[in-house]
Amino acid sequence: MSFDLASRLAARHAENLYRQRPLLESPQGPEVVVDGRPMLAFCSNDYLGLADHPEVKAALQRGVERWGAGGGASHLVIGHSGPHHDLELALADFTGRPRALLFSTGYMANLGAVTALLGKGDTVLEDRLNHASLLDAGLLSGARFSRYLHNDVDSLASRLEKAEGNTLVVTDGVFSMDGDLAELPAVCAAAKARGAWVMVDDAHGFGPLGATGGGIVEHFGLGLDDVPVLVGTLGKAFGTAGAFVAGSEELIETLIQFARPYIYTTSQPPAVACATLKSLELLQRESWRREHLNKLIQRFREGAAEIGLTLMDSPTPIQPILIGDSARALKLSALLRDRGILVGAIRPPTVPAGSARLRVTFSAAHSEEQLESLLSALAECWATLAKEEAPDA
Ligand SMILES: *Cc1c(COP(=O)(O)O)cnc(C)c1O
Repeated sequence: MSFDLASRLAARHAENLYRQRPLLESPQGPEVVVDGRPMLAFCSNDYLGLADHPEVKAALQRGVERWGAGGGASHLVIGHSGPHHDLELALADFTGRPRALLFSTGYMANLGAVTALLGKGDTVLEDRLNHASLLDAGLLSGARFSRYLHNDVDSLASRLEKAEGNTLVVTDGVFSMDGDLAELPAVCAAAKARGAWVMVDDAHGFGPLGATGGGIVEHFGLGLDDVPVLVGTLGKAFGTAGAFVAGSEELIETLIQFARPYIYTTSQPPAVACATLKSLELLQRESWRREHLNKLIQRFREGAAEIGLTLMDSPTPIQPILIGDSARALKLSALLRDRGILVGAIRPPTVPAGSARLRVTFSAAHSEEQLESLLSALAECWATLAKEEAPDA
């Protein structure tokens, strides 16, 4: 008797699905050192370029001096310190919700919120393309779990009709692997009509979207009534780490009482909350980052269309190039890498079978010249790939 790990790993290789971790030997940013080589990267989620921002780093350093290195305990014991509390107040204000609760990661915020709200006899309805943490949360909750077709309100409505018990409709705000926006006004209306609640995980919308970076709910002007459970993560556009759930006083108190991934884990280092307070300030105040990002996105979409690449219906810094076949996506990513450009090949099971893609992401820290370098490398590599596949043509 044994675990046959070797053959599982060999099968993963054979399907072109084997994953490897690039070793980052520099701070996050457009110009990185990966596996010993300088590269131009278009694959992080640091959309506003705040992960290596001098003021954010200085706030972290001051936080360490004042509050030490670690949280030391869970929030309910003695790990809930001043900066955590101040950040919760600032995030409530930012989202226009009565309260916000800080979690150590987005994965845990999602597990915590869904499992605290639902149990046996309830129903959770999720967009098919939701982030893995939302799907895992739905399964773990023990509620009846059903996935509706991506962004398809009819498909959602027919499931809502059959729903039993407390019903939670759960969706990404910006879909992490496609970059498109949830059809939130329609989703919220359908849910409200059946007395269901909506939970939005806007990990990729906070920062880039909305006039002050308030994400998809600011973009569509949706309040607490429309979206009672709002989740954001702090490791992406905020450039730091952690996550939050924003909502009513009762929701937050319920999570403090019942969300196990909140209760049974150490609070994040308080200095990280100090850094996030600074990045929140920059994110709201300095709208030039969003404006620059939007320029890069538009120029990329024009340039990619000229090359003949297939893009997705995305207005966000997530601009995937749809390839289909996993081996082909890996090949294109390798050709770009040979030219010093780093773009991740995203394959099943992260995306549906047959929809492997290069997930290009932009940051406000990218320059227009860096974007042009990406476009010319893409044009060359795309031509090389076509030649290799049809050598006689
Ligand atoms: C990244 C991500 C998460 C997880 O957040 P972490 O803080 O990295 O754990 C959750 N939901 C979505 C949609 C994400 O993209």
